[in-house]
Amino acid sequence: MGDNITYHSEIDTVLIKVASRCNIDCSYCYVYHMGDDNWSRLSKFMSDETIEAMCHQLGQLSVAQDKIFSIVLHGGEPFLMGVPRLRKLLSKLRQILSEDYPISIQTNGILISNEILDVCADYQASVAVSIDGPKDIHDKVRVGHNSEGTFDAVIKGIAVLKQHSETNFLNAGLLAVIDPTSNPSTVYHFFKSLGAPSVDFLYKDGNWDRLPDGKKSIFSVEYGKWMKELLNVYLNDADPIPIRIIDDMIKVLLGGISSKEGLGLTDFGIIIIDTDGTIMKNDTLKSSYNGADKFNHSVNIKDKNLLGFLSSVEFRCYREMQRPKNTNCLSCTNLNLCGGGMILHRWNIENQFENPSVYCSDQMYFIENMKSSLNAILKNYE
Ligand code: SF4
Repeated sequence: MGDNITYHSEIDTVLIKVASRCNIDCSYCYVYHMGDDNWSRLSKFMSDETIEAMCHQLGQLSVAQDKIFSIVLHGGEPFLMGVPRLRKLLSKLRQILSEDYPISIQTNGILISNEILDVCADYQASVAVSIDGPKDIHDKVRVGHNSEGTFDAVIKGIAVLKQHSETNFLNAGLLAVIDPTSNPSTVYHFFKSLGAPSVDFLYKDGNWDRLPDGKKSIFSVEYGKWMKELLNVYLNDADPIPIRIIDDMIKVLLGGISSKEGLGLTDFGIIIIDTDGTIMKNDTLKSSYNGADKFNHSVNIKDKNLLGFLSSVEFRCYREMQRPKNTNCLSCTNLNLCGGGMILHRWNIENQFENPSVYCSDQMYFIENMKSSLNAILKNYE
């Protein structure tokens, strides 16, 4: 790789799995529907003992590195933990981490209540809601345990979030998984109509051995075309809603750094703390094979050696997995922007994680179209 590639070595994000179960049953969920069964062995919520140990270790991390890191509360569904547990957890986190350290909660939105939001506001924890689009798109996949659609309940939760007195801080935007059969313009304008401060889009989980839903073949470009249309709508909107993935791509094209893993060549430092305190790899890796998110010599946060583990060879090797090794990627003209995509999208049994992304054709198609669209805009200013 070229000498101009910079890798950062500190921790950027600590993702905490505060609840191991979910109140809904999305058909594409990597936690429960992609062959990994670790969740069934875990207690439902993080125990007081684990919370105590975790906060102590995160306090040590904040002293050991200058860089501010983000905390993301995740699950399962984090709000299943209930108000008293949530208050206890957030108050402990805030005892060791000042408000300079962003804390956010990723929720399916159904359990949002004023009582929960009051607790979030008390400890400056923002709330991001997962919703995939209008009712017909969302209810195809984001369903309850009896296969019922969850759209109406999510919309109610978003309404409560928007009406809270601290909504300007609390409302951290929407997260959507792309349905490539949907109309990007309809989805975009629906999210805009919800008054969301921002939205992020994710490609569906999948790999070379198990193609993502909606992709006919490795060479097809359903997602690339969807993203191209989304970009067109976005660029033609005089008052656009920020779209994290597009904004990050433009930033990286201009020489900046993406805010999240899966784009560009920044070597993000992410740790996952599972409900029982075990340090895990990025949990999206679960979609590759059962146990793919486990370290060989993992530590538990209760072992009181987080800093030691973060400087271990095994953790360094895990971080280096983000760097694509496939020769196609290393000689690709779009490498600096694509970065080889998310690690989970590179998997097959034969080459393990050393393939290009299963979305390579989509990325190529979208990036070339993005460059053309941006060049056309710049020409207007010449
Ligand atoms: S576009 Fe394809 S070959 Fe290029 S970096 Fe991305 S995954 Fe690799």
